[in-house]
Amino acid sequence: MNIDSINNGIVIDHISAGNGMKLYDLLGLGELDCSVAIIKNVVSHKMGRKDIIKVDADIPVDLDVIGFVDPGATINIIKDGVLVEKRNIEMPERLVNVIKCKNPRCITSCEQEIEHIFKLTDREHKVYRCIYCETKAN
Ligand SMILES: [Zn+2]
Repeated sequence: MNIDSINNGIVIDHISAGNGMKLYDLLGLGELDCSVAIIKNVVSHKMGRKDIIKVDADIPVDLDVIGFVDPGATINIIKDGVLVEKRNIEMPERLVNVIKCKNPRCITSCEQEIEHIFKLTDREHKVYRCIYCETKAN
């Protein structure tokens, strides 16, 4: 894999420095068969430092996960070496089965079958709360 260019795939750009690994984990990129590169602490004129993730395959990525971790990130879709689409990310209103509630007394901690749902309660401060017990996500 050429780090500088990919022919067909996805580039997640403008990730706040330090969020690259978190995004990698939550998107489950470690389970893919294709090449995935995380480039950390890239010098950016706009942001100071940023992380970039490059995935060398046209896989569906969960925009909600990216919007939760880093709403400032951008997604570039590359086809045949050409940038064909740029997507901006927004914070999702609801997160379903992305993160787990940390409250040991929460119903999601005892019931295996229940979905882990978080709701955006404060867009300005990027606060998500468990819909069952209102514990804040971090
Ligand atoms: Zn909870």
